[in-house]
Amino acid sequence: MKKGLLIVLSGPSGVGKGTIYSHLLKIMPDLTVSVSATTRSPRAGEKDGVQYYFLDREEFIRKRANGEFLEWAETVGNFYGTPKAPVIEKLENGKDVLLEIDVKGAHQIKAAYPDCVTIFVLPPSEEELKKRLVGRGTETEAQVKARLELAKSELSESVLFDYRIVNDDLDRAVREVADIINKIKGERKC
Ligand code: ADP
Ligand code: 5GP
Repeated sequence: MKKGLLIVLSGPSGVGKGTIYSHLLKIMPDLTVSVSATTRSPRAGEKDGVQYYFLDREEFIRKRANGEFLEWAETVGNFYGTPKAPVIEKLENGKDVLLEIDVKGAHQIKAAYPDCVTIFVLPPSEEELKKRLVGRGTETEAQVKARLELAKSELSESVLFDYRIVNDDLDRAVREVADIINKIKGERKC
């Protein structure tokens, strides 16, 4: 059986990664998404096991030591990691898996799984990124500031990704991601 394709969607916080993948799932219903683990607190409406597995730091560190993460990173003060077993199982069963992770995590995945496809989502401008992050209303002013500061260095690493797309018009950005995935799948032999 042909193995599934591992797709990494990355880019700065607030650029619209989560929005893109939720729209992508509507037009690519066979795509599966990995649910990450994190030590950050749930936002209003977020449920354990749906948006994230919410762990305390001790549990995260224990799982990390057990080798339970495919990759992990500490970003803006919290740990985030991709649970390994479900991703490997899905890929082995021929299912495509999308990871929505930060830039440090994306580099780790590319190094370990060179056949994966990495896509960097760029904002139309830094001002628009700030507007989206503030507009989402989920972070404090200090957290927004830290995320925007980190975004500067992350944006400089976009050249290391297989593909870069700009999330200005949402529908177009979603279509571009779908086109990339379909193109790679069409070219793969195994
Ligand atoms: P990320 O997952 O990258 O942190 P989100 O998907 O949460 O980002 O998006 C951040 C905010 O930007 C949300 O309020 C979302 O509705 C908005 N957004 C996403 N894409 C667009 C777009 N193309 N145009 C305008 N606003 C957008
Ligand atoms: P948020 O707190 O806004 O949900 O996520 C903050 C950042 O962590 C985002 O850039 C998001 O892509 C990233 N992230 C989410 N899950 C993971 C993960 O499993 N691993 C890594 N490395 N980053 C993640």
